[in-house]
Amino acid sequence: MDKKIWRAVPVKLVKLLRFIGEMAEVKGYSAFIVGGFVRDRILGVKNFDVDIVIEGDAIDFSRSFADEVKGALVVHHKFGTATVVMPWSIAKDKRFKVDIATARKERYRAPAALPDVEFSSLRDDLYRRDFTINAMAIALSRDSFGQFIDFFDGLGDIRKGVVSVLHKGSFIDDPTRIFRAVRFEQRFGFRIDKHTEDLIKTAIDEDMFGRTERQRIRDELILMLNERDPVKAVMRMHQLDELRFIHPNIKIGKDLKRLFKSIKERYDWYMTSPLKAKNLDLWLIYLMALLSDLDKKGVRDLCGKFVFSRNDKIRLISCKDSCDKILQFLSRKKHLRPSEIYKRLRPLSCETILFMMAKAKGDKVKARIGDFLMKSKDVKIKAKGMDLKRMGLKEGPAIGRILGQILCAKIDGEVSSKSEELTYARRLL
Ligand code: ATP
Repeated sequence: MDKKIWRAVPVKLVKLLRFIGEMAEVKGYSAFIVGGFVRDRILGVKNFDVDIVIEGDAIDFSRSFADEVKGALVVHHKFGTATVVMPWSIAKDKRFKVDIATARKERYRAPAALPDVEFSSLRDDLYRRDFTINAMAIALSRDSFGQFIDFFDGLGDIRKGVVSVLHKGSFIDDPTRIFRAVRFEQRFGFRIDKHTEDLIKTAIDEDMFGRTERQRIRDELILMLNERDPVKAVMRMHQLDELRFIHPNIKIGKDLKRLFKSIKERYDWYMTSPLKAKNLDLWLIYLMALLSDLDKKGVRDLCGKFVFSRNDKIRLISCKDSCDKILQFLSRKKHLRPSEIYKRLRPLSCETILFMMAKAKGDKVKARIGDFLMKSKDVKIKAKGMDLKRMGLKEGPAIGRILGQILCAKIDGEVSSKSEELTYARRLL
């Protein structure tokens, strides 16, 4: 195990980890890499999220480390943690970052409350973690570099394909771990062991979600919907009767699987299209699907309860407002001019439009939305307000109206060059 552990890890990263181990030693501390990175090394999954635990003062260590590597330092005094952002990257376009924490012990004074934290040993730090598979470490000190540390048989559980908590109070301490259990189970094709599943049921019966910080539940929900194949996790959450904590009216019918699949197909199609697609929130499109059976008030309440950002809330509510109406409009048999479709779709977020496309029953509707995205959405005209003023039009709303009409003519293919646009404007005047 110890020798294989660095297989396929970029040399640059191994060197950095060695440096971290040596620097910690110089300061009289010990450094370890912990959590998802270790788990994914064993599973052979690519993961460059580096979480370091220091037996010693992590903030003092991080200051010196950031100085040495010329990285940017962000300190979170309250938690005794720091992040160092390196001046280089491993994965494309993203500065490489290292999260560094002091080894600590947590004590939960009340169920689901934030814990009291006390600095401690690596073993205690690993014991406060969610599952055995996430509670393994690799030593970074010079004489034990690469040594695999596994106090709770995480390796055994990986071999068995099991998600298992470290102690029976785990979900009472932190019920968001229920989402995490399902997420890891479904991601790796593991199963939550019987004891852990019983503890989940007990925590649910005792309404532990009701006592948890809502933002944390929202963040876990987003992480779940960001999984590669979220429908599996959603189905499992449904089976464990956990979705009612998100909203009691969420219904999981057989159509949802089909809809999730269709969303992914539409999303992949759009993101690989020649358009310069901006980054879209795929999780939000899945959430739109999950909230299909809620009315507008239900969506509004849910956004408030889980403190979704203003931007997320606007997109979710506008989807609820317009999706069915617009789908009905787009399924009309008669010919629709591209500009008529443009006027309906342009005000909507791309997430809403892709959701509608995934939901649309007929090919005609899908094609109409597809044409809007590929041909009309980004059409621009060359005529400006100044041009219209030169024709004698006074400053005021009429200018905007006429520019809008020129745009529609351009979308419908009636004008193309600037001079055609201006001739068209003259005719309108
Ligand atoms: P992913 O691949 O989804 O990022 P990860 O294991 O790296 O998985 P993170 O959320 O980045 O997950 O957390 C890093 C580590 O912190 C976990 O591996 C786990 O050891 C610990 N951890 C995270 N959340 C919790 C929690 N709610 N309770 C206990 N330990 C946690």
